[in-house]
Amino acid sequence: MHRPPGSLFVSLLLLLIMPSLAATQSISDQAKRLQSTSIVIDTHDDTTQRLLDPGFDLSVRHNDGNIDIPRMKEGGLSAIFFSIWISSKITGPDAVKQAIDQIDAVRETVRKNPDQLLLATSAADIREAKKQHKIAVLMGVEGGHMMGNDLSVLRTFAALGVRYMTLTHMDNNEWADSSTDKPAHNGLTDFGKDVIREMNRLGIIVDVAHVSDKTFYDALETSKAPIFSSHSSCRALCQAPRNMTDDMIRDLAKHGGVIQINYHVGFLSQEFRDYEKAHPEAEKEINEEVKKRCGDNEACKLTTGDQVVRDFMQAGKLPKVDWTVIVDHIDHAVKIVGADHVGLGSDFDGAVMPLGMQDVTHIPQITDALLKKGYSESDIRKILGENTLRVLTEVEQVSHNRNK
Ligand SMILES: [Zn+2]
Repeated sequence: MHRPPGSLFVSLLLLLIMPSLAATQSISDQAKRLQSTSIVIDTHDDTTQRLLDPGFDLSVRHNDGNIDIPRMKEGGLSAIFFSIWISSKITGPDAVKQAIDQIDAVRETVRKNPDQLLLATSAADIREAKKQHKIAVLMGVEGGHMMGNDLSVLRTFAALGVRYMTLTHMDNNEWADSSTDKPAHNGLTDFGKDVIREMNRLGIIVDVAHVSDKTFYDALETSKAPIFSSHSSCRALCQAPRNMTDDMIRDLAKHGGVIQINYHVGFLSQEFRDYEKAHPEAEKEINEEVKKRCGDNEACKLTTGDQVVRDFMQAGKLPKVDWTVIVDHIDHAVKIVGADHVGLGSDFDGAVMPLGMQDVTHIPQITDALLKKGYSESDIRKILGENTLRVLTEVEQVSHNRNK
């Protein structure tokens, strides 16, 4: 989840005369075949916020937002991790209750769409879903604040099917430091390390997206199973504290982990990031445009910021960020640690997607671009999903051994 900060005003008239948004990419037959025969996993999607609306139907195609069942099928997505997310300002019993409500919303969505979705809690479930031509649905809790400092809540999350937990969101919690807050614990507290050990026992992947660098190293040292970042990009290409340094990516890989590349423009493009910093008025103008388009319709606001930023880019009001930058980040990480430790964690429906990646139907472009760069089919399959399956399998094995 990364709610968009702002940008500049543009008139509707100007938008109408602009050339159409990113031209449809032509995908090679080889890429299409590779996409449809691979297990393609996205480890971070914030669509859950829409699932909370009883009027939202995931099974029909929408004109807004990034994700629904028809578009996941068109993009060849095999498995999706829906993020269980609430603001890290909410803590205690309220946080636990809201997390449970979101888990219920995901589970109910699967129950109502039995022919198309399968609730998956293991690597084997994901492979079974693919066999049955269904989309595997998994869940990740995005922020340790939602377990209310209580290991019994963590165990309940596991029992309900949660398969990763991001240790923090934007704020520190009582046992772990976040990358976007002032250090308070020098990484993980002793209880934080107990949380990691219990996650290992339960078979929940330790997710280090959002955590401080020191928390990352403490988690890496404590966990007996591989860990991953469900949605981070490369700090060498874009200096966001949320992104991972080359050293962190190397150390993550040494322990068998995976960096799942995030598609958010503010994590992909240094130029975009610098512009936002230099133009604080931009956020206000984006928000005004969202208000103009949505009025007081909260559901509309959930998806419109993403579109407004892309419209402003097209209108020349913000630096343009093209979807190919996602491939640059994948390629950078592969150059450092090889294709065994890189994957996809879009942040769809929770961030600002670049031009040409306005929804999940566009993900075959990544496969096509990697083929054109000379990647082997086997390496591309790893990046698309096999690496995540390997991490899941190893985490399951550690859990199995600990429960003997
Ligand atoms: Zn996030």
